[in-house]
Amino acid sequence: MMDSIYPWFKDAWIAIHENKNLPHALIFKGKEGIGKYNFAVKFAKSYLCQKTLSNHLPCEACSSCEWFPDVHPDFKHIAPIENEDDELSKRKTVRKKNILIDQIRELSEYLELSVHQEKGRRVVLIEPADSLNHAASNALLKILEEPPENTLFILVTSQTQKLIATIRSRCQLLDLRGPSLDEAKTFLIDQKIIHEDSLLSYTGGSPFIAIKELENQSEREMIIQLLSQGHNIDITKVNYAILTQGLDWTLNVIQKWVFDLLLSLHAQQNYYFKKEEKRIQSQAKQINLDNLLLFTNELNELKKIASHPINQELQLQNIFIKYKQIFEPS
Ligand SMILES: [Zn+2]
Repeated sequence: MMDSIYPWFKDAWIAIHENKNLPHALIFKGKEGIGKYNFAVKFAKSYLCQKTLSNHLPCEACSSCEWFPDVHPDFKHIAPIENEDDELSKRKTVRKKNILIDQIRELSEYLELSVHQEKGRRVVLIEPADSLNHAASNALLKILEEPPENTLFILVTSQTQKLIATIRSRCQLLDLRGPSLDEAKTFLIDQKIIHEDSLLSYTGGSPFIAIKELENQSEREMIIQLLSQGHNIDITKVNYAILTQGLDWTLNVIQKWVFDLLLSLHAQQNYYFKKEEKRIQSQAKQINLDNLLLFTNELNELKKIASHPINQELQLQNIFIKYKQIFEPS
């Protein structure tokens, strides 16, 4: 957990503490991977703290701060229940993870209990709020329609449009801006992360996605290696270790590569793969546009089923066969 507030959230931190009419429900919205969750947790901690410091940071010494978050009786974090990874294939499968109605029912029961602390405040953090399924959304709406006293609800999301309108209308929206490129770079350098430039362009400027992507560097490089070969890829030599992060993740890398190919075709700078720009530019010259467009459609179709337990090796092989074809003359 951060000790202070990320520089790009400083204004929001001050604004939220200077808001004298804090409503009973807030939505923290902003781009993925900018640290919204940490911000929300920090805010919850300071909201519950018995003697916050002058900069509104929690004191880290009172009993509330000591309990927070795991054993704090007045803090509840509602998140999707994690599914087990596919143990058989040792691969990550991205199944749709939802917050379920049973979790909201439990919350309802919890809210009937009285608040534990002297200060008499309670915080319910729902994150990511866009993972509430339909039934859970309706159950939460009922709670928000007749909110219990002294309880603050914080919904964190990067996709506000996925929340039902009736929930949105009951919450006050706090827009959290992401870091500028310089702020994101400084942040990664402070974390002793190298190649921060190429990581940030690959992740669209999100520092926390960049940190997560570090773990997948070797798989990503294997994929780049393959994609760079264009028409010369030897399908029989595809190393399926690139599927370690799951087909969905692998397809993401390929989609980003193809996006940059399209940019190069239109004489524009690469967006995701800065280091490989020259390679992509020279590949773009050999492209068969019709096949490329067909290929992007296929990728989109495959993305829809990538989380199902299909034969991932076979799917990937097909993708590379079709990728080769985008360099064939029509
Ligand atoms: Zn405290």
